[in-house]
Amino acid sequence: MKTFKNIFDFQNEFSNEEKCRTYLEQQRWNGTPACPFCGSINVHRFPNGKIFKCREKECRSKFSVTVGTIYENTKIPLTKWFLATYILSVHSKGISSLQLANWIGVTQKTAWHLNHRIREMLKENAPELLDGIVEVDETYVGGSESNKHKSKRNASARVSGKTMVFGAVERGGKVVTKIIPNTTAESLIAAVEENVAEGAIMVSDENKGYKKLNKKYRHVKVNHSKGEYVRGAAWTNTIEGFWSLLKRQIDGIHHSVSPQHLHRYCNESTFRYNRKKVTQDERFHDAVLNCNTRLTYKQLINKA
Ligand SMILES: [Zn+2]
Repeated sequence: MKTFKNIFDFQNEFSNEEKCRTYLEQQRWNGTPACPFCGSINVHRFPNGKIFKCREKECRSKFSVTVGTIYENTKIPLTKWFLATYILSVHSKGISSLQLANWIGVTQKTAWHLNHRIREMLKENAPELLDGIVEVDETYVGGSESNKHKSKRNASARVSGKTMVFGAVERGGKVVTKIIPNTTAESLIAAVEENVAEGAIMVSDENKGYKKLNKKYRHVKVNHSKGEYVRGAAWTNTIEGFWSLLKRQIDGIHHSVSPQHLHRYCNESTFRYNRKKVTQDERFHDAVLNCNTRLTYKQLINKA
């Protein structure tokens, strides 16, 4: 596995298309090319090294290592894709499309598409359920009011393009986020049950939506209005810390984010948060391992 400690090493490792393709073949196929259409490993590599043909009679498809991945059908060279992926998975706050455009020499529009496709790669596939002590909270993201605590925000926030995000973090472990339509008990409990193992100790604020948590979980409430932030295990500082990271990224770098794309910005922040202790090369390897996903232009610009 390639190792690199900094951007200079990284660029040496991935200085041309061939190096990038070889790496991608390793990450995607573990070195054994497989037909993306029928899964067969009975394939022929053409002398140019790039194109394969499936030898199965009923298939006979031609393909390259990028077919069926996030990189399919783009004119952007893999060297630029990889550098952008490196920056997004390693840089602590991410990068704006304007800055990325300047760094890798593409238009801002192209950089915007690149950023979103990479964020799609950064989502956690089949994450494990959180367990132990788990803090849960929810917050509005987007717009200038997003930094205020939710009790101080005006109730019409939702109308002005803000989106409600649910978050849960295991103490000493990972964070998960989910866009939710509202903070009814139904939405909140569904979000908890989807992400947290039964029997875990849940810590929340006094939002009434969490009231029924004690059926499957041990539930501890923090009473913020009484200034009661710390009482034994009863604090939600970890998830609040994550919210401030997420908001600093969105407000500070991207300025405004439309609700239809918000989940991808959450993917990005979550990916980095969950890999705080992981080296740069491992972060990049993890991101590329997730390349078997598509996000077409049509899906990307489709208004929700
Ligand atoms: Zn095939």
